[in-house]
Amino acid sequence: MKNKFITFEGVDGSGKSTQMEYLNKELLKLNIPFISLRDPGSNKLSESIRGILLDKNNIELSNISESFLFLAARAQLLEKEILPALAMKKFVLCDRFTDSTLAYQGYGRGLSIDLLKILNDFATQDIQPSLTFIIDIDEKTIFERLSDHSHDRMESTGVEFYKKIREGYYQLSMENKKRYFIIDGNRSKVEIFDEIWKIFIDRYRIMENNE
Ligand code: ADP
Repeated sequence: MKNKFITFEGVDGSGKSTQMEYLNKELLKLNIPFISLRDPGSNKLSESIRGILLDKNNIELSNISESFLFLAARAQLLEKEILPALAMKKFVLCDRFTDSTLAYQGYGRGLSIDLLKILNDFATQDIQPSLTFIIDIDEKTIFERLSDHSHDRMESTGVEFYKKIREGYYQLSMENKKRYFIIDGNRSKVEIFDEIWKIFIDRYRIMENNE
């Protein structure tokens, strides 16, 4: 399967949004149509759900409720933004998607991965990205980077949790080597982007043909 749907995964602070920005700039320069999204978010309803999920006062949110909120936001994002953009042959870049549910709620919080996969497929109408960059950074770098940020509910859960997430992403990457690329995020922003850009142009033959 080769659609123009590309996702960025990794723990908070790994550099997903930074790398997406770099890719946005290159696509703009080349006049290649794209949209840039974040999951959860990028439309009114999904952004409201994001607000609930990231609110550090919502400590009573159960793991299962949390999963369904993510899935609801994602279903809406897919229907309202992703499908129309793909139909218009645009590239769709998305900060997080189904793999975040598998890594966080599955590997991180211990919910059934098989069940979450079924729920993901239901929420996304079986649409999957054809390219997923997993930006991997070690725990020390994570906490250095996050110290600049306000720590929200998802970010205030500790080193052990992050270890499980990293391991989860690694496991996922083993399932489909054509789709997942683990990118060493402990390097400079430019070095990381060089690798991402090479993979991207190779996958979509950008320099030869913009279709
Ligand atoms: P994410 O979107 O994965 O949460 P960000 O792209 O927002 O991560 O990056 C988190 C912080 O780390 C930002 O302050 C960003 O400028 C910084 N950062 C991102 N990539 C790098 C890098 N390769 N080296 C150093 N700092 C980085």
